[in-house]
Amino acid sequence: MLERTRIQQALTTVEIGSTVTVMGWVRTRRDSKAGFSFIEVNDGSCLRNLQVIADRGLKNYQDEVLKIQTGCSVRVTGTLAASPAKGQEKELQAEEIEVLGWSGQDYPLQKKHHSFEFLRSIAHLRPRTNTFGAIARVRNATSMAIHSFFQERGFVYVHTPIITGSDCEGAGELFKVTALDLNHLPARQGEVDFEQDFFGRPANLTVSGQLEAEIYALALGNVYTFGPTFRAERSNTSRHLAEFWMVEPEMAFCDLQGNVDLAVDFLKYVFDYVLEKCLEDLNFFEERIDPGVIKNMESMVSQEFARITYTEAVDILSKAQAEFEFPISWGEDLQSEHERYLCERVFRVPIVITDYPKEIKPFYMKMNDDLRTVRAMDLLVPRVGEIIGGSQREDDYDRLLQRIEESHLDPEDYWWYLDLRKFGTAPHSGFGLGFERLIQLITGMNNIRDVIPFPRTPGNVGF
Ligand code: ATP
Ligand code: MN
Repeated sequence: MLERTRIQQALTTVEIGSTVTVMGWVRTRRDSKAGFSFIEVNDGSCLRNLQVIADRGLKNYQDEVLKIQTGCSVRVTGTLAASPAKGQEKELQAEEIEVLGWSGQDYPLQKKHHSFEFLRSIAHLRPRTNTFGAIARVRNATSMAIHSFFQERGFVYVHTPIITGSDCEGAGELFKVTALDLNHLPARQGEVDFEQDFFGRPANLTVSGQLEAEIYALALGNVYTFGPTFRAERSNTSRHLAEFWMVEPEMAFCDLQGNVDLAVDFLKYVFDYVLEKCLEDLNFFEERIDPGVIKNMESMVSQEFARITYTEAVDILSKAQAEFEFPISWGEDLQSEHERYLCERVFRVPIVITDYPKEIKPFYMKMNDDLRTVRAMDLLVPRVGEIIGGSQREDDYDRLLQRIEESHLDPEDYWWYLDLRKFGTAPHSGFGLGFERLIQLITGMNNIRDVIPFPRTPGNVGF
C-alpha cells in the first residue's frame, strides 16, 4: 500500500511543520496571478478538503499542474503550514505533485450543486460529493453505534439467512430465488415443478430475520441480526426500498414493556453516539439539507417518548380537528397521515403505540387477555414516521396454532416455529428497525433512495 496521511488526520492531529503525503481527488483548481495555484483535495476521510498550494517552481507546474481538473486523483507531498485563509487552519505547501489519474471536461461532477435525482443516475460517482460522502460516514458510524449498543449489553450478533424457504409473515411481497431457466420452466400437472429447482422447493429472499432470530434467542438469550432485507412491495414512496437493512434484536424472558424500554434506550444511544462522532458531517446536514436536524436529535436524547395504546391513538384521532384522507375507526390500520399527526401535532415527541387489533398485525404477535388486541409496538418519530415495529411474540402453543390457521397459513410450514413453543417456551420479544429510515432521521435527507449507496426500487436495479 502507498504510504499516505489521511486528510482528516492532517487537518486535526498532525502538527504544523510536518512533512506529509496525501492522496485524494481534486475538487477544484484556481490559479493566482502571482504564479501559483490552489488545489482543493478531498480523500473522503472527512468532509473538509485540504487546500494544496502549488508553486510554479514545481518541476511539472506548467506541464501537469496547470492541466489538473476536477476529478483528477493526485498524490501530494509537502509541508503542513498554518493557513492565512479564512475558515481553515492548515494548508499543504506542495513540494511534489503527481497526477495519478486524469479527468476531463466530461467528468459529470463539474457544478457545485447537482440535483439528487441527477446524482442517482451516476451512483458510481456520487460518493465523491459532499452529501454522499457525509452519508457514507454517518451510515458507518451508525452501524458501529448499533453494534456497540448491543455488544455492551451482552447481545449475540446472529447471521440469519438471506435465502429462505419461509415467508415470515405470510404478507406476500417476496422476491423469488430460482435457478430454473425461466424460458423453459419444468412443469408438473400444469404448475411449475419446483422439485427440479436448486433447492427442490420454492425459495425467497428474506423479508425479515425475525423468525430465525427467535430460534437463537430461545437458546442464547439476547441476540440481534443486522442485515439486508428484501421486499417486492410496489410502494413508490420516499420511505420504501426493495432492498434495505434491518436491525432486529430478539430477547428471551422479555415482555412488551421491556421491548419498548430497549427500543427507546437504543435510539437514544445511537443519537448520542453520532452526535459525538459525526459532528462535522451533521453540521453539514444542518446547514445544507435540513436546519434543525441536530436539535431534533438532541431533543430526542433528552425527551421522554410518549407511550399510548392503539385504542387511545384512535380516540385522539377521531376527536382531532383535522381532515384526514383516510378516516380512522377502531380496527383500521393507522396511515402515515395519522402517525404524523400524532407525532408532529399532538405529542411533538417520538411516540410508541402498543396493543393493536390482532386483525391488522401478523400471526406471531402475542394475544392480550382481551383476545382482541396483540402486544405490538410501533415507534414513530417526527419527520419519518414509523421507524420501528415490534412485539412480544406468542409463546403459547395453542394460541399460536390458532393464529396461524386464522391467517390462512399452513401450520406444517411452521412446524419448527411451533416446536419452539413445545420445547421450553418462554416469553420473548423483539423489534425491527429500518436502518435507512434511521439514517433519514439523522441526516434529514428527504428521500430514502439517497441514504443507501445503491438504491433498489421498482424499476431500478442499478447499472
Ligand atoms: P411500513 O408500514 O412503513 O411499510 P412495515 O409495517 O411494513 O412498514 P415492518 O414490517 O414492521 O414495517 O418492518 C420493520 C421496519 O423496517 C419498519 O419500521 C421500517 O423502519 C422498516 N421498513 C419496512 N419496510 C421498509 C422498506 N420497504 N424500505 C425501508 N425500510 C422499511
Ligand atoms: Mn411495509
